[in-house]
Amino acid sequence: MRFLRAVCFIAPLVAGVQVDRRGREVYHGYKVFRVLTDGDTADFEAQLESLSAIELSRNRGHIDTQHFDIAVPPESLDAFHALNYEAETLTEDLGADIALEGELEPFPGLETSVSGANANAKVAAAAALPSFSWFSAYHPYADHLTFLKSLQAAFPSNSELITAGTSFEGRAIQGIHLWGSGGKASKPAIYYHGNVHAREWITSMTVEYITYQLINNYNNDTAVKAVLDNYDFYILPIVNPDGFVYTQTTTRLWRKNRQTRSGTTGAPGDTPENTGIRTYGDKLGAGKGIKLYIDWHSYGQYILTPYGYSCSAKAPNQSRQDTLAKNVGAAIAQVHGTRFTTGQTCSTLYATAGGSNDYFTDVTPAELAWAIELRDTGTNGFTLPANQIIPSGEESWAGQKYLWANF
Ligand SMILES: [Zn+2]
Repeated sequence: MRFLRAVCFIAPLVAGVQVDRRGREVYHGYKVFRVLTDGDTADFEAQLESLSAIELSRNRGHIDTQHFDIAVPPESLDAFHALNYEAETLTEDLGADIALEGELEPFPGLETSVSGANANAKVAAAAALPSFSWFSAYHPYADHLTFLKSLQAAFPSNSELITAGTSFEGRAIQGIHLWGSGGKASKPAIYYHGNVHAREWITSMTVEYITYQLINNYNNDTAVKAVLDNYDFYILPIVNPDGFVYTQTTTRLWRKNRQTRSGTTGAPGDTPENTGIRTYGDKLGAGKGIKLYIDWHSYGQYILTPYGYSCSAKAPNQSRQDTLAKNVGAAIAQVHGTRFTTGQTCSTLYATAGGSNDYFTDVTPAELAWAIELRDTGTNGFTLPANQIIPSGEESWAGQKYLWANF
């Protein structure tokens, strides 16, 4: 985090940092490397800071090693190479990658305004779902709210918009609650969070894809009807709205929320966003209980089970969770061949403190509490091209359908 903050505060003063005409950083000439380090990450982190490099992700390699994916600004490339780390180049020009994401496009309207060419038009004529072309591009934050409202209007007797607290900058953390034939809030919860980390745009699009398909298929797919009749879905596609907006206006690779850190402890869970979504989850836990919690992230293609804080601690149903995760990975791979690595967070990725799937294992227990890291494995990273939104949605939908039918 220190690196991000350093980059963001210093960037306007450093020669060579470029912004476009709307004031967004463009990252031209930044290269992305996967660097193998030994266990001494503090030393490596200090090096990163001196290079004004941006940490993108890290994960555990073999015993006592870590891989870091880092973006190095052009003016630091010589200094980085002089350090002689074992490194693989993932991206030659991060700015070019970001351009591949495409422009942000406005809400495309409702299916009824689309003239039958769309595969979903048959259902849409009755339901007035938003246009499926939503999933062909990334969108401004305000349009995500319009999209959610339109989903709700297409499923009026079985859904309502929900709010899980307020962000640091005062935005409502909005989502949608779906239920089936048993009526509102009559069944255990399936609780999804997207875009906890601001720069992980594919997560909100994928969570929205799943929501869309739940509504679109409730009346024509018995498995979808069964899961909605047996569980209440509480879906928050963008739980970090301030950070998400900031990635769209200013700094594409911003990760956290926008809370100023002075006067806070900086401990996990202390942001207003975390308080809001945790409180909402506590309420679900105290109600009908939580069957499944998933915190959707990118990137890396992982399905992660508890725990993050310890590599030796086990959830009471650990082996069942691990088996289900493995089988979900297999169901995902059948769609487009995308391989997800599955396992416990700590041993698969790295030790984390304050992870939300730990919270939803121990404090407000969910029967299954996972984090999923979506596409890709580093080629495009957080800036996944828009033409991968639908494939990511399709494979994730298949994975969730497997899970709902077998958990
Ligand atoms: Zn994340």
